[in-house]
Amino acid sequence: VEFDHCGFPGTLKSNLKKAGYEAPTPVQMQMVPVGLTGRDVIASADTGSGKTVGFLLPVVVRALEKPAPSVSSPVALILTPTRELAIQIERQAKELVMGLPNMRTALLVGGMPLPPQLHRLKSSIKIIIATPGRLLEILKQKAVQLDNVKVVVVDEVDTMLKMGFQQQVLEVLEQVPEEHQTLLVSATIPKGTEELATRLVRDPVRILI
Ligand code: AMP
Repeated sequence: VEFDHCGFPGTLKSNLKKAGYEAPTPVQMQMVPVGLTGRDVIASADTGSGKTVGFLLPVVVRALEKPAPSVSSPVALILTPTRELAIQIERQAKELVMGLPNMRTALLVGGMPLPPQLHRLKSSIKIIIATPGRLLEILKQKAVQLDNVKVVVVDEVDTMLKMGFQQQVLEVLEQVPEEHQTLLVSATIPKGTEELATRLVRDPVRILI
């Protein structure tokens, strides 16, 4: 699989080139085509494998499919355990969506002031990148709704568990409509991770790198 053969819009293809992503990494070769079919995915992939672009490409393509809503109505939700990871994901997402219409992202993470994050949600946001605790806090204030979310990414599921975020992840996902695609990524998939993973996905394709 080459990026050129994925049927991406021209802007996305040129953004990949601009970012220096000439050819997909092994994990992207598997995650991107499966992700584009709409199937759920459980991928074991570590930092450095290119997993972020691996889940972002299907997310961006899915987000482009929906007409732009007039209110803040995100189509994609990316959960990750730490602020640092969230910042990296948002940076890579912005690289990919540059020049694409109505593809604003919001970074909702703890350890940073809340008001600017709430303010950002007043504009039309397509992709949320969040840590679970801060997103729950914002959901409780009804500053964003997840009822238009079509694709969910849970990144670093093993770290989520280690940091004790299982309950918070499940609580967030209760607010996402039943009918959605889930992409799970974890460096390793020990028993506890497998248990959480199987609660979050339906008939998943497993990707082992
Ligand atoms: P990740 O595993 O998602 O943390 O990504 C590791 C690094 O690989 C990041 O700095 C990406 O910018 C880079 N990267 C991702 N995909 C590609 C690609 N197809 N070609 C070259 N570099 C890439």
